[in-house]
Amino acid sequence: MPASAGFVEVLKCSACGALDAGPREICPVCHAPALQPGKVPGAGSLLSWTVIRRPPAAFRAEGSYAVAVIELDAGVKVTGRLDSPDAGGQLGARVVLAESKNGVPVFRLA
Ligand SMILES: [Zn+2]
Repeated sequence: MPASAGFVEVLKCSACGALDAGPREICPVCHAPALQPGKVPGAGSLLSWTVIRRPPAAFRAEGSYAVAVIELDAGVKVTGRLDSPDAGGQLGARVVLAESKNGVPVFRLA
């Protein structure tokens, strides 16, 4: 993993160690109410992506943007954005965290 990859905020179960993207209050694996905020390295692979060409009102000023599902190397899937609506790549392409924008992870192709 490149040192510049940064970290993605996730939930970690303090009972069984499972990771989850959240938000959630109960661990989906062991059902313990033991999820705690944590961070994992922001490197992974592109599972799926799409371009939102007609954004909802709250994001209209930003224009088109790409939403992606990333499978982080830590073993948890997160939803975020790609750094450009044209950034979509081959499924399975390596991505790294570029920045976090209003709490949403933004990834770029590695
Ligand atoms: Zn658990």
